[in-house]
Amino acid sequence: MKRIGFIGAGTMGIPMISNLLKAGLSVLAYDVRPEALEEARRRGAAAGGSSAEIARDSELVVTMLPSSSDVDAAYLGPKGVLEGAPAGRLCVDMSTIDPGTSRRVAERAKAKGVRFLDAPVSGAVPRAIEGTLTIMVGGDSKDLEEARPVLSAMGSNIIHVGPVGSGEVAKLCNNLIAGVATVAVSEAFRLAEGFGVDPKVLTEVIAKSSGFTWAMEHNHPVPGIVAKAASNRDYAPGFMTDLMAKDLGLAVNAARELRQPVFVAPAALELYRLASSHGLGRKDFSSVYTFLKPSSSQAPV
Ligand code: NAD
Repeated sequence: MKRIGFIGAGTMGIPMISNLLKAGLSVLAYDVRPEALEEARRRGAAAGGSSAEIARDSELVVTMLPSSSDVDAAYLGPKGVLEGAPAGRLCVDMSTIDPGTSRRVAERAKAKGVRFLDAPVSGAVPRAIEGTLTIMVGGDSKDLEEARPVLSAMGSNIIHVGPVGSGEVAKLCNNLIAGVATVAVSEAFRLAEGFGVDPKVLTEVIAKSSGFTWAMEHNHPVPGIVAKAASNRDYAPGFMTDLMAKDLGLAVNAARELRQPVFVAPAALELYRLASSHGLGRKDFSSVYTFLKPSSSQAPV
């Protein structure tokens, strides 16, 4: 496989395109924003005029789009992927969207003989740049094997989860845990701080106890404890609060469809939304710690 079609040359798409090019593949890119397409061209990709054209003129199509409605539009809309893709074309959607949309798009694709995998990613921009994303794949395992050499240029852990939609389910489950855990860690460290406990000592204690989590080991919300954490870069992302709110929203909606009760995920979702409406939307999601400040000591208890 030589020519990869890439739709969605945004924050994640651009470094992913660069890695495809570095791996010796050629890339035909498309984005609705001319400036994004220009950046893809600057990195060495050729520019296409529509999603339909990309699907027609490349050997494998990758999409990396903001939300479910964008994936819907890019595949099923006018001049969309399914308008241009010949029967047999393999499409890999790497966006984080709701699993129901992945299944619906896959069914419409199948009706035209077009193959579809959902393959959302974890790792955010630094790992997109390194080409070490975790890629969770839903769909036919033969299709995954065909796509694997291309996915390997962008990620280092490629895991087949199950049928179409299940890659998205895995992604939402992961971010449900990461989002909730970061709120829990932030609350705990605010509490400790209030009682004058040194956060470094508390970290040492918890690292040897049952509360230890990725949120503390790699992305500690309290500055000055984990060198590579976003909290030491004034919470520059990393993974933005707005994206965490989006993913928790998708997880909560998916649970509602199953009529499954969820308690802590909706609470965390509301907290990230509130943090976003108070200016933290484009900061790393661990900035939720800065938002969880105690109120004035004059306030009645
Ligand atoms: P982004 O908004 O920076 O980029 C998306 C690009 O898609 C934009 O350039 C936009 O113009 C383009 N686009 C939208 N609709 C289109 C259409 N119909 N046709 C062609 N182009 C279209 O978003 P991003 O941060 O790159 O995220 C992409 C996906 O990856 C999202 O689903 C996000 O949740 C997921 N994700 C992002 C991160 C991260 O840290 N940014 C990490 C993991 C997963």
